[in-house]
Amino acid sequence: MSTKTRFAPSPTGYLHVGGARTALFSWLHARKHGGKYVLRIEDTDLQRSTTESINAILEAMTWLGLDYDEGPFYQTRRFDRYNEVIDELLGKGLAYRCSCPKERLEALREGQLERKEKPRYDEHCRGTLVDAGEPHVIRFRNPNEGSVIVDDMVRGKIVFRNDELDDLIIRRTDGSPTYNLTVVVDDLDMGITDVIRGDDHVNNTPRQINILRALDKEPPRYAHVPMILGDDGARLSKRHGAISVMEYRNQGILPEALLNYLVRLGWSHGDDELFTLDEMVELFDIGDVNRAASAFNTEKLLWINQHYIKQDDPARIARLLSPLMGELGIDPAEGPDLVEVARQQQERAKTLVEMAEISAFFYRDFDEFEQKAAKKHLKAAALEPLQEVRERLATLEEWDAEKLHQVVIAVAESLGLNMGKVAQPLRVAVAGRAASPGIDVTLQLTGREACLRRIDKALAWINKRVDENAS
Ligand code: GLU
Repeated sequence: MSTKTRFAPSPTGYLHVGGARTALFSWLHARKHGGKYVLRIEDTDLQRSTTESINAILEAMTWLGLDYDEGPFYQTRRFDRYNEVIDELLGKGLAYRCSCPKERLEALREGQLERKEKPRYDEHCRGTLVDAGEPHVIRFRNPNEGSVIVDDMVRGKIVFRNDELDDLIIRRTDGSPTYNLTVVVDDLDMGITDVIRGDDHVNNTPRQINILRALDKEPPRYAHVPMILGDDGARLSKRHGAISVMEYRNQGILPEALLNYLVRLGWSHGDDELFTLDEMVELFDIGDVNRAASAFNTEKLLWINQHYIKQDDPARIARLLSPLMGELGIDPAEGPDLVEVARQQQERAKTLVEMAEISAFFYRDFDEFEQKAAKKHLKAAALEPLQEVRERLATLEEWDAEKLHQVVIAVAESLGLNMGKVAQPLRVAVAGRAASPGIDVTLQLTGREACLRRIDKALAWINKRVDENAS
C-alpha cells in the first residue's frame, strides 16, 4: 500500500511552530515515499473550535507551501459515520452504554487517588443493561488481558499493558463522539498508513489500536515526535515570544527559512544546516528523528532567514516586502522600484521587517538622524564636502549611479579628503543612518529632489550644532 500521512490539527488556536513541524514531518514522509498527504480538521470540540482558527491554519499551511492531496476534511461533517461505527461496536458487544452518574464516578476516583491507585473506570456498567432512552455515554470495552505493542518509528518499541487502560468513553451524553474514536475512524476511512504526530498523543495510541483491532483492522504505523522547548528548557509557549507561524511571517521570516529551521529541530543530516525543500524530501527519514525534545533557537532561525534572503530572487523579495512597506505607511509605487531596493538590501537584513525599516528612507523623509551616526559624521568638517556635493548634484545632468559615483570622487579629490569623509556624511544626510547600499546607488534610488532636500537639512543641523557649541 502506498504511503499516506495526515496532519490533523484541532482548530482551537492558530498554527504554532510545534504543529507546523509535525505537519512538515508528515508532509516530508509522504512526499519522500511518493505517497499522499491529507489535511483533516479535528473540530469536534464545538466549544473551543472556531472558524477563525480553521482559516488561520489553512492560511499558514498555504504560506508554508505544505500542499495536501486530500481534504481539508472536517470531523463535524462525519458524525453519521462515527455513529455507524459506534453502533457496529455496540452490536458486537465491544462497546456498551454506561449511565454511571457523575457523583459515582467522582467518588470512585477519589477513593482510587486516596489508595494511591491510578484513576480508572471500574467497568461497573459492563454487565448492566442501560436503556437507550436513559442519559448515558458509550464506552469501549477495552481488553483486560495482554498488552499493546507499538513499534514507534521515532521512539522504538513501546509496551502498554491492557490492565492499565480503562473503558474509555467513545460517545458523550450529548451524542458527540470523542477524539480517540473519531481519529480511529478517520485514519481508517482515509487509508492513513503512517500516523506522525506530537508525542502528547502517545498514550492515546494503545487505545486507538485496541479500537482498530475490535473493528478487525490493522493499525497504521506510528511516529510520535518530541515536543519543542523554549531556550529555558520549558515547553515552548507564548511567553518565549512568537510561536504562531503567521507571526513569523509578520516578523519578516521567509517560509522556506522557517521550514528549514523546523526540519533541523530534532532531525539532522551530518552537520548540514541548510536544506531546500527538495533536499529535505530526499534526505529526510522519520526514523532519524531525535527522541529527545529540542529547543527553539531564534538566533539560528534568523541566521537561516538571512541566508535565504540573500540568495532569493529580488522580485520575490519585493513581493513579500511590499505589504511590510505598507505597514510603515509607505506605498512602494510612489518611489524607486522595490525590486531594485530589495536587490540592494538583500545583504543587509536578517528579516523582511528589518529590510522594510532600513529601506523606508528611499520613499520618505525621516524625522531624525540616527544619533550615533549623526554624532560621528555630521560635524563641522562635513559642511564643506556636503555643500560641494550639493552644488554638483543640483546640476548633474544624468542621475545615474556612475555619474553620482564620479561626483563623490571629484569632491573628495578637490578637497583633498578620502572618499569616506565625503560619502559617510552624505550617507547619513540622505539615509539618516551610517549603513546603506553603496553611496552612488543610495543617491540614485533616493532621487535628486529628496537628496537635495535632505542635504540641506543636514547642513542646517550641523550649523545649528556648531553655533550652539560656539555660544
Ligand atoms: N487533533 C490532535 C491535535 O491537534 C491531533 C490528533 C492526531 O494527530 O491524532 O493535537
